[in-house]
Amino acid sequence: MDEKRTHKKISLTTWILISLIAGVVVGLVLSFVAPEGSTFDAYVTEGVFYVLGQWFIRLMQMLVIPLVFCSIVCGAASMSDPKLLGKVGIGTILMYLCTTALAVLIALGLAQVVQPGVGLDLSAVVMGNVSTSTTDQTMADTLINIIPTNIIAAMNDGIMLQIIFFALILGFVLGAMGRKVETVSRFFTQFNAVMMRMINLVLKVAPIGIFCLITRTFANLGFSGMLPMAKFILTVYGGLFLQLLVVYMLLFVLFTRLNPLRFLKKILPVMLFAFSTSSSNATIPLNMETLERKCGVDEKVASFTIPLGATINMDGTAIMQGVAVIFVAQAFGIDLSVAALMTVVITAVTASIGTAGVPGVGTIMLAMVFESVGLPAEGIAMIMGVDRILDMGRTAVNVTGDAVVTMCMASATKTLDREVFKQDNPQTT
Ligand code: ASP
Repeated sequence: MDEKRTHKKISLTTWILISLIAGVVVGLVLSFVAPEGSTFDAYVTEGVFYVLGQWFIRLMQMLVIPLVFCSIVCGAASMSDPKLLGKVGIGTILMYLCTTALAVLIALGLAQVVQPGVGLDLSAVVMGNVSTSTTDQTMADTLINIIPTNIIAAMNDGIMLQIIFFALILGFVLGAMGRKVETVSRFFTQFNAVMMRMINLVLKVAPIGIFCLITRTFANLGFSGMLPMAKFILTVYGGLFLQLLVVYMLLFVLFTRLNPLRFLKKILPVMLFAFSTSSSNATIPLNMETLERKCGVDEKVASFTIPLGATINMDGTAIMQGVAVIFVAQAFGIDLSVAALMTVVITAVTASIGTAGVPGVGTIMLAMVFESVGLPAEGIAMIMGVDRILDMGRTAVNVTGDAVVTMCMASATKTLDREVFKQDNPQTT
């Protein structure tokens, strides 16, 4: 009884963290007391833990295609609302997409330098052979194959770029046709809500799945898995800081010619709010209020750019995904061709459009990025275990990206009250 009561009080995030730590500890112990070949290893580590872990991964994979399809249709539809297609609308969307693409490139570059996955050998964790080359397609093939000849076949084979391409066009057309296709639009919105509910259900068993996967991983790896995980987390945070302090600040100064430090000071509470809630959506009201009252952005601009940004602009999430791709590819000894890296940029940018601004979704969308270049889904389990630590930082960057683009657009369209920005405490008047 007592146990049940405590069970209710502990949040899912805490359970996931507990299962991660328990998995590491149990796995490390098993690597000494039940080495490969022992009866315990054969029946429990490679038996029960393996099966339960695989079930969890499959539950997630099962949701990827319908979720990605629906969320991208909805995201694209929200972008093509005719009233958004004015100067501010198109400029904002372009800036959102460019900053996200830049974020992935920074992440890929940084991870190539730091090499967080080198020294970690995850190949033993996957049964069967992992192909060490993700694609032998040429760049021309990759470009040609973006357009599906048969969307049902693309879904059947899980060809992500083709699914994304079709979903984007479908979403744009739905948005442009507006009320005439209300029923279809509503179907996608509601189906999306159903998918989110299914994800929540799967996440309920995540602590068990993660415990089994991590235990088995560390039982196979021993202590050699610890350092690369820490390196992975630090690389993601390194990428987040680069995006924040270099990309955003340069853009800010270039467009507004205002003091970037003053901006950072004003936006800090918004970042802290996003950091502690891990939700861009929950941060919308505070972000809008801060931009309007403290930074002098016209209400009409912020009330459009911020909710749109919380829906389609996830630079922090894209950074995590870029680093994760390199990390897992290195850990599995997989070579990523230039075409594969290009695919990662495209899928991560579209994943950002499809990622809802709530905790944890970025890691589910990571499955789509992995699938697009043929990386094993087992890699996601390692990342899921530390997801909350990453989610806090990436959400703070996600919302700051929205705020910076809003400032740039307001300045470019002369809807920025510079005097308000220059005051220290303008809202008191
Ligand atoms: N938590 C992130 C956000 O709300 C999304 C994610 O990457 O999971 O922006």
